[in-house]
Amino acid sequence: MPRMLDVSDDVRAEIGDEEADLLLAGESAPGNYDCTSCRTPGDSEQERTSTVLFVGNETAVLAFAHASCIPSQVVTVSEEQLQGAVRSITAEEGLAGQPSLPAQAGQPGGQAVLGVTSGLVLLDGDLFPALVVEPTARIARPGTSGPGDDFLPLLIEQGFMPVTDLTRRPAGLPGWSVLLAMGQLHAVLQPGPGGGSPVSWWQAHQPLQVTDGWRAAVNRSHTVLVYAAPVGSIGQQPREDLLRDALEKAAASGVLVAAAMPLAGT
Ligand SMILES: [Zn+2]
Repeated sequence: MPRMLDVSDDVRAEIGDEEADLLLAGESAPGNYDCTSCRTPGDSEQERTSTVLFVGNETAVLAFAHASCIPSQVVTVSEEQLQGAVRSITAEEGLAGQPSLPAQAGQPGGQAVLGVTSGLVLLDGDLFPALVVEPTARIARPGTSGPGDDFLPLLIEQGFMPVTDLTRRPAGLPGWSVLLAMGQLHAVLQPGPGGGSPVSWWQAHQPLQVTDGWRAAVNRSHTVLVYAAPVGSIGQQPREDLLRDALEKAAASGVLVAAAMPLAGT
């Protein structure tokens, strides 16, 4: 019986037509699997399932995800990440106990680096998964070199909204999404130029670990709240309550913007 599998063109190009056709015919597809994105069980006979190919320098691993979590795609990872993924896929050891640490990541084409921290934000009695983005240096508008910091104006032009009250849920931002794969944060995607495929606004050099609590919250909400503030306004906060304090301070100072984004592929 054919499985409800999606094999994207780029996955097919990597694994070859023969393997792709075997998968689609159900010969080599899994029945049950653990979704590589949300890590809850899936069944390729019952629900649409994406094939996700993780490609390292030397090896590649085929994994499966709910189509509602992420689309079928090729994800490039370091060999080290891939070996970790193989261990966690085969041994189901999961990622329990991983602290949610601030991570540094590069922004393509820019001098400044965007620091991204994951945390949970309490809104209306519910915990929402959040990302806090803060550059390591001021951001100049492309083509300018003035002394100002254009980070917030640039984001507001993209549709981020100023936050004055942290208890209000940020509005959605069409076309933007957060790419979570193998239970790790890979990228924040923005609409491609001219309505094309989404492109990375921020991409992790190393996929960012998130806590089990963060992943559980995103499984409930399917939405990530992305907050951004200019360099020097949030800092690296070691605890959730301190992160919240810093966000409230930034909001009170008028230097916080936010948007709600779905997971990529949803
Ligand atoms: Zn899933």
